Amino acid sequence: MAVPPSVPDWMRPEGLPTHRMPSAQALQRLVAGNGRHRRECAGENLAPGDAAPAAFPFALVVGCLEPGAAGEELFAERPGAIECVRTAGPSLGADTMAAIEYAALVQNVGIVLVLGHRNCGAVTAAGNARSAGRPPLPGALGDWVPTAAAGTAALPADGAAADPVTGHVRALRAQLRGADSLLTLTRSGQLKIAGGVLDDDTRGIDFLSDEPDEVVEAAELPRTDPSRYGS
Ligand SMILES: [Zn+2]
Repeated sequence: MAVPPSVPDWMRPEGLPTHRMPSAQALQRLVAGNGRHRRECAGENLAPGDAAPAAFPFALVVGCLEPGAAGEELFAERPGAIECVRTAGPSLGADTMAAIEYAALVQNVGIVLVLGHRNCGAVTAAGNARSAGRPPLPGALGDWVPTAAAGTAALPADGAAADPVTGHVRALRAQLRGADSLLTLTRSGQLKIAGGVLDDDTRGIDFLSDEPDEVVEAAELPRTDPSRYGS
């Protein structure tokens, strides 16, 4: 079944904007806001920002559930300007995809930031499970391992860029850029899929450059199934 490029109007709650912040402007706000947060964490005394609640969010951050690994405070924004969905790694299961699609297609955010963090225990655990040959694991963890260990699979043989977290973020970014449900928005530039890695100590985010993503084990990553929207 063909994927419709947008959600029907009757699905949209009242009060949401019909436009979205230009994606380049949305990225610039995230970069600037994190710069401010990092300076505050370094002890600088900055003038208070605008504390008035935002009418609607302009960005969605897809980050890891571990303490401090993702959150609105990383961007020193006004309340309500940024939303977060947090899973282990993060990973892109059906519920996470539905949250991303809701933010992009219903709430009209201008940017989705896939955010990893340097000291990620979840990515390490998934990589360990992959190295062990993916033994049977309880519940949904067996299906989660390949989604959270994608970066370890992408490491070059020479180890020149042996950074599983960056590899993981790039793999997820590539998966979202290729998601059928978001193609109309991403190809037209209305929605940006960005990637970043948080330094757990400085609280600064290294925003990844925008080079094309290599395809990482596409056959192993779950495909977006539109029939599971909202599941
Ligand atoms: Zn983590």
